[in-house]
Amino acid sequence: MKPKIAFFDFASCEGCQLAILNVEDALLDLLERVDIVEFREALSEKAPRYDIAFIEGSIHREEDADRLRDIRARSRVLVALGACAAIGNVQARSNATAPAVNLARVYGEEARDRVQTDPDHWPLWAHTRVRPISDVVEVDYYLRGCPVVPAEFVKLVTALIAGSEPRFAREPVCTECKRAGNLCVFARGETCLGQVTWAGCGAICVTQGYRCDGCRGLLPGANLEAHRQILRDAGLDDATIDDRYDLFCSAQRQPQQRRGAGPGGHAR
Ligand code: SF4
Ligand code: SF4
Ligand code: SF4
Repeated sequence: MKPKIAFFDFASCEGCQLAILNVEDALLDLLERVDIVEFREALSEKAPRYDIAFIEGSIHREEDADRLRDIRARSRVLVALGACAAIGNVQARSNATAPAVNLARVYGEEARDRVQTDPDHWPLWAHTRVRPISDVVEVDYYLRGCPVVPAEFVKLVTALIAGSEPRFAREPVCTECKRAGNLCVFARGETCLGQVTWAGCGAICVTQGYRCDGCRGLLPGANLEAHRQILRDAGLDDATIDDRYDLFCSAQRQPQQRRGAGPGGHAR
C-alpha cells in the first residue's frame, strides 16, 4: 500500500500548492511512491484517512478550526505548508485591529454598518482572528516560507515514506547568504532580517538583489532586542522596525494573544 497524501487549504493564496504542482518532475517521481488522495487544485476525489496531510493557510473562524481538527483526527502526520499555516503570515497583522475596522477598510463603512446590524453575518466577522494552525492542532512538521521551497517538500515526503526523520537546519538565513557569497546588504547601508529568520530558502531574496524580510519566520530564541539595536544603528526607528518584524511574523510576536504552542510553534 502506498502512503496516502492529502492537501487542504484554508485562508491562503494557494501559492504553496501551486509551487508544489510546478515541480512536475519531482512530483511525477513521488507519485510512483505515494497516492495523492485529496488535492483540490488537481483532483476531485476525497478520502477518509491520510498518512500525511499538508495544511496550507491560516485559521480565521471557528468553523475553520473545526474542519482542521477533523483533518487532524484523520491524519497520521500533519504538516504546515507555508507561512500562512506555519506563522499566520501577513494576514495575522489584522489581529491588531478590531474586526469592524478591518471590515470597513476592505469593504467600506456602508458594508460594515450593514453587517454589524445583521445577526446572520456579524458573528462571522466578530469572531475572526487569524491563527497559525499550531494554535488549533498539533503540528508534526513545518515547511516554511512564502511560498514553500519545493525541494524541502520533496525532502520531507521522501524521508517520511522511507521511515526516517526529516531534519531541517535550525540556523539563520545569514548562514546561507554567506555560503552564497552575497555581499551583506548592511554593507551598502540597507537593513535585513536574515539574522533572526529561519534558513532553508538559500537566501534567495538577497541573492536576487533584495533583502530578507523574514517570510520563513523568526528563529526560536532569536535575540530580537540585539537585532533591534542593529536596525536602530542602521537608522530605523522603532515603529519601522516593528513594521518590518510584523510583515510576516506578527503572530509570532503576539504569543499572549494565542493559544497552544509557543511562538511560531516550531516543534521541529
Ligand atoms: S505562504 Fe505565501 S505563497 Fe503560501 S499560501 Fe500563504 S501567501 Fe500563498
Ligand atoms: S544580507 Fe541579510 S541575510 Fe545576508 S548576511 Fe546580511 S543580514 Fe544576513
Ligand atoms: S530571503 Fe528571507 S524573505 Fe526571502 S525567501 Fe528567504 S526567508 Fe523569505
